[in-house]
Amino acid sequence: MSSIIYPITNLKATEQLVIDRGEGAYVYDKSGKQYLEGLAGLWCTSLGYGNEELIETIATQTRKLSFCHMFGGKTHEAGMQLSDTLAQMVPMDNARVFFGNSGSDANDTQIKLLRYYFNAIGKPEKRKIITRERAYHGVTVAAGSLTSLPVNISFFDPPVEALGILRTDHPHYYRGRLEGESETAFVDRITHNLEQLILREGPATIAAFIAEPITGASGVIVPPPGYYEKVRAILDKYDILFWADEVITGFGRTGSDFGCNSMHIERPDMMSFAKQLSSAYYPISAALIRGDMYEAMVEQSTKVGVFGHGYTYSGHPVACAVAGKVLEIYQRDKLFEHAATTGAYLQNRLAELAEHPLVGEVRGKGLIGAVELVADKASAKPFDGPDVINRAALQCQENGLLVRPVAGTSLAMCPPLIITREQIDELIAKLSQSLDETLGVIK
Ligand code: PMP
Repeated sequence: MSSIIYPITNLKATEQLVIDRGEGAYVYDKSGKQYLEGLAGLWCTSLGYGNEELIETIATQTRKLSFCHMFGGKTHEAGMQLSDTLAQMVPMDNARVFFGNSGSDANDTQIKLLRYYFNAIGKPEKRKIITRERAYHGVTVAAGSLTSLPVNISFFDPPVEALGILRTDHPHYYRGRLEGESETAFVDRITHNLEQLILREGPATIAAFIAEPITGASGVIVPPPGYYEKVRAILDKYDILFWADEVITGFGRTGSDFGCNSMHIERPDMMSFAKQLSSAYYPISAALIRGDMYEAMVEQSTKVGVFGHGYTYSGHPVACAVAGKVLEIYQRDKLFEHAATTGAYLQNRLAELAEHPLVGEVRGKGLIGAVELVADKASAKPFDGPDVINRAALQCQENGLLVRPVAGTSLAMCPPLIITREQIDELIAKLSQSLDETLGVIK
């Protein structure tokens, strides 16, 4: 034990795994036992562990300039270069980039950018944000108010009303459908509900709709075909911005460069990134907005003299240098293409597990996936509470595979982008064995 208050942890639990070192797609505990990193740390270590080029980049930048803030006219090469590379990569119009340190603070920043922008264009009443049930967008006070998962909001009393956060349906067909409802009818119903919510609240009061193109922490939900096209048509009709939270889905994760492209979301107005932006070698996040939104803010900032938002570590030079190198490696080593083919292989192999008696649904796209465990396959009856899913995750750990129980029902997989087919076979074999053993224990 130690003096740490552990994050996202049952504080009463005493079992801990002390991770000691990492190499490639594997980490090792104190006893030297090897674990395949089936979740890339927390959906982030895309280039795996111990990458010498990244270590070298960190050392070189640290020697050259270990810190430089970006307030009031200061900047540095690594940050400027990274912002340009990002702006060119994303499917946005003349994107502008604000750097932070975590996915949560990127989303907090976006809330402030929205307010600043709508104040600038004379629409101060346009400030509500639509999020979805089951959403995960971080845990800070503001971003945590966009999150809908009960474990992350219970007892924290997030200021949902003060921030004008509205919730709409999650596109989770397996759990959200009515009896006998087709996917198309499901999409029609929930997008109708979205439009009704907008009309009830008043379109002139709603700034943006936030969504992860494919979710992570809420169970790796891949929306049915046509969902985003319908959502976007409604948002466009009422002049509401589309804000893509790509903290997990950015950079090759879902089988193409960005989740928006995998899910046919055309030119989002805002995008949030963290995690794979630096392959987690250094904390860094980026909040991107459309160029014309930025132009409006420029005028606004002259009224009080500065744009008064920024963190000490906004654009930390070492983080920027390492993120720049990460993006270079993605492109040089064609890692998005590699992730697309190994991702297709992962999905094929995961699909085999659909036959397992414990598995209600297999979901995923590219190199992200999940299996949802059920008490009864035919009726899709869930287990009472998270004990079984936690047990299954522990069983995987015992078998040398790290995956994560999410949303109390599912085991999520999100291996490093560098994973090989052989390692995917290893992942599936260990997962399958662990599911068998879990079944044996709970029977
Ligand atoms: N958005 C999404 C979609 C995430 O998955 C996460 C983290 N899992 C966050 C935001 C918050 O990121 P962080 O933990 O770096 O604050």
